Amino acid sequence: MTRPRHPGTLNRRHFLAAASAALLPAPALAQTGASDVEVVIIGGGAAGIAAARRIAEAKRSYVLLEASPRLGGRARTEDAFGLRVDLGAGGFARSEGTLAASAQGAGQTLIALPSGRRLFAHGREVRESAYDAFASALGTARRDMLTSVDGGKDIAAAQALANAPPPAKGTPGANGPWAATVAQFLGPLGCGRSLATLSALDLARRDAPPDDTTSPAGIGTLMEGLGAWLNVQKDAPVTLVTHGGRFHSVSVRGQRTPIRARAIVLAVPAPVLAAGAIRFNPGLPARLVTALRAIPAGHLEQVAFLLPGNPLALQPNEAVLTAAGTAPPALLRGRINGSDLHVLTFGDAPARTIAEKGAAAALPLARDWLRANFPTAEAVVSEVVASNWGQDPLVRGALSAALPGQGAQRRVFADTVQNRIFLAGEYVPVSGWGTLGGAWASGEAAATRALRLFGDGPA
Ligand SMILES: Cc1cc2nc3c(=O)[nH]c(=O)nc-3n(C[C@H](O)[C@H](O)[C@H](O)COP(=O)(O)OP(=O)(O)OC[C@H]3O[C@@H](n4cnc5c(N)ncnc54)[C@H](O)[C@@H]3O)c2cc1C
Repeated sequence: MTRPRHPGTLNRRHFLAAASAALLPAPALAQTGASDVEVVIIGGGAAGIAAARRIAEAKRSYVLLEASPRLGGRARTEDAFGLRVDLGAGGFARSEGTLAASAQGAGQTLIALPSGRRLFAHGREVRESAYDAFASALGTARRDMLTSVDGGKDIAAAQALANAPPPAKGTPGANGPWAATVAQFLGPLGCGRSLATLSALDLARRDAPPDDTTSPAGIGTLMEGLGAWLNVQKDAPVTLVTHGGRFHSVSVRGQRTPIRARAIVLAVPAPVLAAGAIRFNPGLPARLVTALRAIPAGHLEQVAFLLPGNPLALQPNEAVLTAAGTAPPALLRGRINGSDLHVLTFGDAPARTIAEKGAAAALPLARDWLRANFPTAEAVVSEVVASNWGQDPLVRGALSAALPGQGAQRRVFADTVQNRIFLAGEYVPVSGWGTLGGAWASGEAAATRALRLFGDGPA
């Protein structure tokens, strides 16, 4: 973990210069309402938008079908207390894939997030040496997980850490003073599940660089902007995909005529597929169904509230992690874009409670966390706005992580299904899973593979 520095503006000059030069092409055909297209993209989150953009750029006919009234999926900018706030992805890593370049090409403004997180224990910021100890404990945990799966056997991440050999003298090992905080950071706060339920292999392979970039308009708004010119049908839930000869037929609830396509990019969340919310005829291969069941959803929910006057003395968009203690674990994003708005992310059991009970459960959780960590701020919070990803039937959780013993299953998602269906989404990348940038990259990759069916791009 590095010490924070102040946020700055990322290449605004370049964004402006690029904006006019990089106007993207209009869709090749006016396809809305057409019943035959070359590619149907199902799901309008980051992965689906990225795929549709690539297909459109290749001047192939397509339609992007999104079940809800808006694009963005788990990137959603909401109104809270008269301000705009992301209650899903709140940033992304610039180095992960081409999302930043696509945003830049579309003339969207991005700003840097403060690097690293601030670490607090018992109501005050820890000393420099504790930052080092935490960073070292985090590195040791990752190494211990990698070592545990070296022989090819995948076990629970918690077991991998418990089995780790004692640390060298003077170094904080897996069982040192930061062990519980590291476990919370990697498990409930990182994947929405405890380390006991997570595959050591899947977690050790995860290579999610820290978020260093956001959009001042909100990541959800950014996504909607990136999809604004696409050929999209919203409120178009796909219910059935039928494979017949050279075409797939895609049925949308409420539409009489199915859409026929030569290729499909399937960009809906893994739990939606695992739940059978879209029917396939013939059914999805058993190997794929098994793999989808092996990566159940983790749960993250976010709770936004106002803290006027900056009582926590934070820079805009600063992230705070607190040492494991009595309060439910949470990550704080403070002073969203310099405002009084703060957002807590809860994972695992508290997140499931928030999804089930809404703001009535989110308010006491937020106040508990504040009481334990910043007692003077607790009384100020009397109202919250909370997300509900866990109960949203179109999403069903925050991100998908493998069960112990099932870490190798993620490779299955690279397979082409029934010769013409290409999977895309946060759950698809073997290392960049669970992130916005990873979802975006997977959408582009799926579209590139679909385009090869038409002889476009390298074989
Ligand atoms: C609380 C929270 C915080 C997060 N924070 C970060 C972060 O800070 N940084 C980061 O990198 N990542 C973060 N993530 C993860 C990131 O949001 C996701 O990885 C990414 O948005 C997933 O994109 P996707 O396209 O794979 O899926 P989604 O965004 O879920 O898109 C799938 C789309 O499919 C649609 N759909 C579902 N069923 C159908 C159907 N039958 N027919 C048509 N459409 C359908 C859905 O409505 C949805 O729009 C966070 C996630 C959550 C929940």
